[in-house]
Amino acid sequence: MSHATDSNRMTGALDASSATFVDAIVVGAGMGGMYAVKRLVSEGRSVLGFEGAPDVGGVWLHNRYPGARVDIEAYYYSFLDPELYGSWKWTERYPAQPEILSYLRHYAEHYDVRRHFRFSTWVEQMLWDDDAHVWQIRSSDGATVRARHVLMATGQLSKSRELPFPGGEDFAGEWVETSHWPDHEVDFSGKRVAVIGTGSSGVQVITELAKVAGSLHVFQRTPNYVVPSQNSPIDQAKYDDFASRLPEVWNQVMESGPAYLAPVSVRNAKDMTPAERLERLESQWEFGGLAMTFAFPDQRTDWEVNDLVSNFVRNKIRSSISDPALADLLEPANYPLGTRRLCVCNGYYETYNNPNVSLISLRDEPIERVTATGILTTKRDYEFDVIVSALGFDAFTGPVDAIDIRNSVGARPTDSWKRGPHSYLGLMLHGFPNLYLLTGPGSPSVLVNFNVHNVYHVDVVADLITHMAENGLTSVEPTLEAQEDWKERSQAVADGLIRKQVENYMTHVNEDGTRFFVPYAGGWGNYVQIVNDVVAQGYEGFEFEVAGGPHRHDKAAAVVA
Ligand SMILES: Cc1cc2nc3c(=O)[nH]c(=O)nc-3n(C[C@H](O)[C@H](O)[C@H](O)COP(=O)(O)OP(=O)(O)OC[C@H]3O[C@@H](n4cnc5c(N)ncnc54)[C@H](O)[C@@H]3O)c2cc1C
Repeated sequence: MSHATDSNRMTGALDASSATFVDAIVVGAGMGGMYAVKRLVSEGRSVLGFEGAPDVGGVWLHNRYPGARVDIEAYYYSFLDPELYGSWKWTERYPAQPEILSYLRHYAEHYDVRRHFRFSTWVEQMLWDDDAHVWQIRSSDGATVRARHVLMATGQLSKSRELPFPGGEDFAGEWVETSHWPDHEVDFSGKRVAVIGTGSSGVQVITELAKVAGSLHVFQRTPNYVVPSQNSPIDQAKYDDFASRLPEVWNQVMESGPAYLAPVSVRNAKDMTPAERLERLESQWEFGGLAMTFAFPDQRTDWEVNDLVSNFVRNKIRSSISDPALADLLEPANYPLGTRRLCVCNGYYETYNNPNVSLISLRDEPIERVTATGILTTKRDYEFDVIVSALGFDAFTGPVDAIDIRNSVGARPTDSWKRGPHSYLGLMLHGFPNLYLLTGPGSPSVLVNFNVHNVYHVDVVADLITHMAENGLTSVEPTLEAQEDWKERSQAVADGLIRKQVENYMTHVNEDGTRFFVPYAGGWGNYVQIVNDVVAQGYEGFEFEVAGGPHRHDKAAAVVA
């Protein structure tokens, strides 16, 4: 069956409310989903998008808490789209959430993306029909749609982590989550406020709320490294220069380690004098933000060098806090920098010098439960008007597991992830044809600039769909061998990393103590080269079929083995 005849394609006029068969379903209207819809529609594919939220924006719609801000410079944290780059005006190097959401809405309007989406509609179930080579999708509005391809643009950080203690529903005051911030104004002025969690979102919201709350109690489990971004107005001359040679900038980004241009050192600390090292550390600090993770290449693998960087930041932290006892609690003394996500926020530690801010270490007094009036720890009963939960995300598996996805033998993608989430190239899973996990486990994912990553992954998938359409192919999936090989390759590049040796959300620890590092850690440029080579070799490691051909039940069964 040819691609052109197997759909009710309504190019340019697809009615998102009534389509029953489309070339592609896109789940999620964040950056990845919007670009996927735009790219596929521009090639004449019939596309239907689903988004559980009422509008586009993804994390930038959900996470509209005070202080939410990007930690990759605006020069690179965008679609790098030639049609829009030059005309869009950013105000700051690291824009705040409202500005990023405006940019995403502008993108949606410019490309008329919204009309392809069903908003406030969650995809709940997906069943693979191995005879017809289509996915059957059921959504929360009760509708069913069939699609040849499904692009999971559900993000890695869109499903919140469950509360690790009981009683959340008992609280009589206002309970809010940073990851799903309400769209009404939350009044904190003069109120008794608690924030639980001191990760990236926690530190940002704490710094803002401390300015207005009557009292602010921060519940901290693990102290994080928080570095200032050294934010400033965007360098318009630099931005305009980039706009004038965007294809060249894009190519540089595609060859870079983190998928954006940053002061990444190629000189090991071990080859420098102490004075040179200090100068390097100070200049990274002055640049700001994630630059501290790129001070020396050997800080990722050499514990002594990592100590050097970690101690440099710890000293900066201590110098910002007036009370030494408080500094003891806030200093991330027990693990190396760059192994958990580095938090970026200006003025975080100074916040604790204010008399209205108190820190409660959950190591000393764990939370027993939330009560009607506040929080009960093992030591005290605290009373609050508002509780802010900033507990982070169920990364990698959460959004995939939230949908009942079944292949032809009833297996789910996460069935094979018990010893760590993985896939072929971080994009597709053996046994699950025509299902694309954008920025999925086994891709650089959370280690790089997500936006560029999404654009690249969508481009790869769109080209693959075109390849199949042109050759009359109706299903594609990676071979088990290729997937296993990628798993080994991606573990090999992570093996020497300090990051794999300490507890963090990227490292999956098995019951037998073995560790599996989820993202591909070999660098963005290398990853792109590998994927480009796979494509150039005629989609090496992928198997294609035509509907009506031999069944693949035996292969799908391998997934649950
Ligand atoms: C506060 C915060 C700050 C961040 N800052 C940065 C940064 O500085 N740099 C960086 O590179 N990355 C950052 N990230 C990571 C961020 O996730 C990515 O940058 C990027 O926005 C992800 O886009 P996405 O389209 O892949 O996914 P998302 O933006 O997560 O969008 C996924 C969408 O899918 C929807 N969805 C999920 N499941 C379903 C379903 N079953 N049915 C229908 N819809 C569904 C969700 O509602 C969501 O809107 C940040 C994340 C957060 C939370």
